[in-house]
This record gives sequence, C-alpha cells and structure tokens, in this order.
Amino acid sequence: MTLIVHKYGGTSMGSTERIRNVAKRVGKWVRAGYHMVVVPSAMSGETNRLLGLAKELAPQHHNDAYARELDALAATGEQASSALLAIALQAEGIPSVSYAGWQVPIRTDMAYTKARIESIDDARVRADLQAGRVVIVTGFQGVDPQGNITTLGRGGSDTSAVAVAAALKAQECLIYTDVDGVYTTDPRVVPEARRLKTVSFEEMLEMASMGSKVLQIRSVEFAGKYRVPLRVLSSFTPWDIDITQEAQSGTLITFEEDEHMEQAVVSGIAFNRDEAKISVLGVPDRPGIAYQILGAVADANIDVDVIIQNLSKDGITDFSFTVNRGDYARVIDLLKNSVIPKLGASDVVGDPKICKVSIVGIGMRSHVGIAAKMFKVLSEEGINIQMISTSEIKTSVVIDEKYMELAVRALHKAFELEQAGA
Ligand code: ASP
Ligand code: MG
Repeated sequence: MTLIVHKYGGTSMGSTERIRNVAKRVGKWVRAGYHMVVVPSAMSGETNRLLGLAKELAPQHHNDAYARELDALAATGEQASSALLAIALQAEGIPSVSYAGWQVPIRTDMAYTKARIESIDDARVRADLQAGRVVIVTGFQGVDPQGNITTLGRGGSDTSAVAVAAALKAQECLIYTDVDGVYTTDPRVVPEARRLKTVSFEEMLEMASMGSKVLQIRSVEFAGKYRVPLRVLSSFTPWDIDITQEAQSGTLITFEEDEHMEQAVVSGIAFNRDEAKISVLGVPDRPGIAYQILGAVADANIDVDVIIQNLSKDGITDFSFTVNRGDYARVIDLLKNSVIPKLGASDVVGDPKICKVSIVGIGMRSHVGIAAKMFKVLSEEGINIQMISTSEIKTSVVIDEKYMELAVRALHKAFELEQAGA
C-alpha cells in the first residue's frame, strides 16, 4: 500500500473546527486506500505564547540550562495539537495514534532550539500503519542522546515531515499551508506573481535560503538529500474536493530537470529584508585576514552571507559582509572590542538597512547575460548595487532597503514572470 505524509501548519491546526477539517481531509485519503502519517504544527500562536511565558519569567541569563527548558516547553505545543488531531480522527471513526518526537523516537543532536535530526526509528510507526492506524507524529521536535527533548528551530515541523517521509520512504510529502504553493515572488509585493506548478529542488533551496518563507530551509535540504518528492499546497480548499485534483494542486518540488516543465530562465525573485552590512575598514592585506574576521563571527555562532574583499591599495583593504539584522549589534561589538585591535584595522562601519534581492533559475546555467540584464534593470530604476554574489543558478544583489519593492517589481516584469511558461 502507498504511504503518504501530510504536514499541517499552525493556521490549519488553529482551532478545533480546523482540526476537525484536517481530520476529515485525512479521512478522505485513508478511505482512498493510502497509509497515512500526519505531522502537525502547534496551533497557530501557541509556540510564541509558550516562549513568551518563558521570557516573562527570565528576560535574561539565557544559557544551556534555560535552552533545555525552552525546548521542553515549546515541544508541548505540537504534543497538544497532535493528540487533538488523533482524537478528531477517532471521532470520525478512523483509528489513530499520536507520538511525541521522543516516543518515535526521532533522534537529534544536542543543540537545543536548533537541533538537527540524526536518525528516525521507524519500527513503531510501521507497526501502527500495518495495524491500519493513522499515525500522527509531532512536528518540530526530537530527543537527544541523553533523553532530553530538543526542538528543530522555528518552522521546524516542515523538516520533521520531510524526515519522517524519508525514513518511511513515503511516495510523497504534502505540506498543507496557508498559501496555495510557491510563487514567482511574494504576491504581496507583486500582485501579478504567479504560482509555479513545479520548481526544481535546487531553485527551492535558493529561494528558501533567500527569504521565501514557504518552507523551512532545512526541510528542503533534507528533501534534496533523500530525494523526497515534496508538494506545497493549500489547506483552505474544502476538505471534500476531489482527491485527484487535490493531489495535483499546489507546487511540486521536483528532482528531474525534464519534469521541470516551465522552462523559464528565471523562475523566481526572492528577497530578504532582514539583512545588515558590516565593513571593516583599513585592514592590512595579508594572509589570514578573512579568517581572523569571519572566524570570530563564526565562533559567536553568527551566520555570514555575502562577503566582499576589495582590491587593496598600498597593502590596505576593506572587508565587507552581510549578517542577519538581528545579529548586527553583536557583530559590531565583537569586531570593535576583540577583532579590530588585534588586526590593526582602522574602523568598523555598518548599515542595518539593506536588503538582498535575488533572481533564481536553473535556466541560468545554460543562458548567458542574465546577471547583466538584472544589473541593467536596476540601473534603469536608479538603484545602486552595493554588493553582488552569484551561484550557478542565482544572482543576488545587496541594495538599500527602501528600494526593495521597486527592484522586485521591476525584475519580475523584466523577466516576464507574470506570464505562464515564460
Ligand atoms: N510550532 C513551531 C513554530 O512555530 C514549529 C512549526 O510550526 O513548524 O515555529
Ligand atoms: Mg511553517
């Protein structure tokens, strides 16, 4: 029998009414003959509520002991929604059982609040499936080697679902969410944005890392590694729509390039506002500079994105990079206090109001001049490019935040993304 994994986001699980709807939808798939594993998020707002309570009690002093309790706390959100879904299914006459991450178990490393899944024991789940039960597995959590509850980072239920689908070799993992698929760009910025029927896994990876909030990036990495067919679709369609129609809706993330029907050169425009630029000025240009600057930043567990080292003049250069805006103040402090003095650089300056805009498409591999066209469009709009970075299938520019929407609209139009199959 074919196994399918469904994942439902917090909005889809947001009330008993909605949970009942999820149960009815899952019931439809069960009656169509599928084995089903369902991975729910916590009811919408619940994770924030729980974490808020912790913060009320301890606004400061956030150490490992605190992180351990945060995970124990936050994991309850998914435990509650999972049990409620099992109850709703049973009420529909469908045998069902829910398991918390540690009960499966889903084994992770020990990095509280951002743990990584290491392995999943599928025996228990398989036995239930064989016995004809729908198995609900809590999203967002696992258990570390010492038996502590861990969570996978915000949005982590996507990753749980994909990991469970990989472990059980499910035919497909369907991510039901409050948007009906992956769009050429955010429709709130460009109303003409179009839903993609398919997107390649590599493009999705770039879009997810570039600020498209549809899927947690780790879930896309996981899907790529284990080749899990993944579909993003709406949970707001009526639960009783035709199952064949439902199974083909949304956006399929594919691995076969020839399955990638819409052969556009550029498939989407991604953007990220939450960025900040930092420049270390007057750095002596000698081996080990990048390591001394970025090593210190990495040791503080801060992600660095675009990096630029300028040409040196008289043995002195400037070194710039971007980080998450939330890390900006910390990085400036760190550089001022410990790195600059050691390095003999002259100063650190920064700009927390920048953003990154990227064009993404596997067609860029086989077409030249795409980046040049992007730069032309931006120059025609009078937008100054501060930094550029490229990969085989994307070109990103760092620009002033105030031009973000203008840039995205202009690029969407220039690359004719509003037209199907463009
Ligand atoms: N409930 C968790 C969060 O809000 C995990 C998830 O929804 O994916 O981040
Ligand atoms: Mg989510």
